[in-house]
Formats: sequence, structure tokens, C-alpha cells
Amino acid sequence: MMDNNCIFCKIANGEIPSTTVYEDDMFRVILDLSPATKGHALILPKQHMANIYEMDETTAQKVFVLASHIATAMKKALNCDGINIVQNNGEAAGQTVFHFHMHIIPRYINDGQNINWIPGTSEPEEREKIAQTIKAALN
Ligand code: AMP
Ligand code: ZN
Repeated sequence: MMDNNCIFCKIANGEIPSTTVYEDDMFRVILDLSPATKGHALILPKQHMANIYEMDETTAQKVFVLASHIATAMKKALNCDGINIVQNNGEAAGQTVFHFHMHIIPRYINDGQNINWIPGTSEPEEREKIAQTIKAALN
């Protein structure tokens, strides 16, 4: 289903023009308007889903297969030195457009970008407790 108030629904379904790299019946891959690096692309499902929690299993499987194809093509076409796959869910994680999208970001030596986190610390008991909580929530 499309959400009429969602800009990525409109882009994914061709109602708003975009620089398209790839399209099939389920996805459109576009170039980001404000790229982190040359070739920064976004995989957009054509169906509206705000985030990963709303994603059905078929789309979840297909999105990573597509990511691997796009990444391989980028490596060949752009001769990049690396690629980051980034996918933000929720404001706290930096999501600004609430239609699922996967960033495919080609990286170049000394490109000046920094997609990183500050490594923290943890105790074995704490890790065990957290793991148990997550395990209990899996179904
Ligand atoms: P996120 O912070 O993960 O929600 O990423 C949103 C991304 O969408 C950003 O990298 C924006 O530059 C990009 N973006 C926003 N609007 C457009 C648009 N109309 N066309 C292409 N990319 C867009
Ligand atoms: Zn949408």
C-alpha cells in the first residue's frame, strides 16, 4: 500500500521524478539528493513501510539480495574502495524519512566521511542478561 503523505512512496512509485539506478516491481533504487559520497544510493520498497519493524519477510529477504547486487555494480562502476550499508530506524537512530530505506554508501580512501560509533565497555554478566532478554523476545 502507498501512503499519500509519504515522499518516498511517491518517489518509489514514480510520481515524483528521481535519479533511478534500478527498478523492479518491488523496489526502486535512487541516488541520494545529498550524497555522503559519490554514488550514495537508497533502496526504496514501493510499498509503504515506515521502518524495519513493519517489514514483511519477503521484502526483508529481497532487500539484501538487491543490496548485494547494487554494491557489486558500484564497486565495478565507481571503483570505490569500500561500501557502507546503513539503515536507520527511528529518530534516535537518525531516521529522518519515515519510509524504510537502505543507504548504500560507496567509500573512497580519504573521502572525509566518518560512519562510526564510539566503542563502549560491558561486563560478561551484563551481556548475558541482555542476550537473555532479546532471546526471550524472539519468536
Ligand atoms: P535517513 O536519515 O536514514 O532517514 O535518510 C534520509 C535520506 O534521504 C538522506 O540521506 C537524504 O539526503 C535523503 N533524501 C531526502 N529526500 C530525498 C529526495 N527527495 N530524493 C533523494 N534523497 C532524499
Ligand atoms: Zn512511504
